[in-house]
Amino acid sequence: MGVGTADHLLEGVMRGVDMFDCVFATRVARNGMAMVSPKTAASCRLVMKNSCYTEDFSPLENDCDCYACKNNFTRAYIRHLVRAEEIFGLRLLTLHNLRYLQKFMADMRAAILEDRFSDFRADFFNSYERGLKIE
Ligand SMILES: [Zn+2]
Repeated sequence: MGVGTADHLLEGVMRGVDMFDCVFATRVARNGMAMVSPKTAASCRLVMKNSCYTEDFSPLENDCDCYACKNNFTRAYIRHLVRAEEIFGLRLLTLHNLRYLQKFMADMRAAILEDRFSDFRADFFNSYERGLKIE
């Protein structure tokens, strides 16, 4: 309960935990944030109110198949919705965040089955820590 960030999920899985329940993904979406890979953003989050997204016409994540990303809702448009307090923006972020976690867990499951979980974990934290040094 209460474990919902990617880094904490990864550490939990490494210790044998296979079920999580947390509001984090939906809570941060309601606060205008998208959960992303550490390869996309060092903090694993995009704060959509930030002005850097004003003219960013890319999806939240390029390889994401969530409703928001696959239907070309851009960061700029989602930023506009969030700033205008349109609930649709928060719904798009919620859909993205839930799909992000589903895919992240599926990727971990595949890594375990293919006996490469240690490499998966190392790759995640290398990107995560490299990003933290840049920020
Ligand atoms: Zn998405």
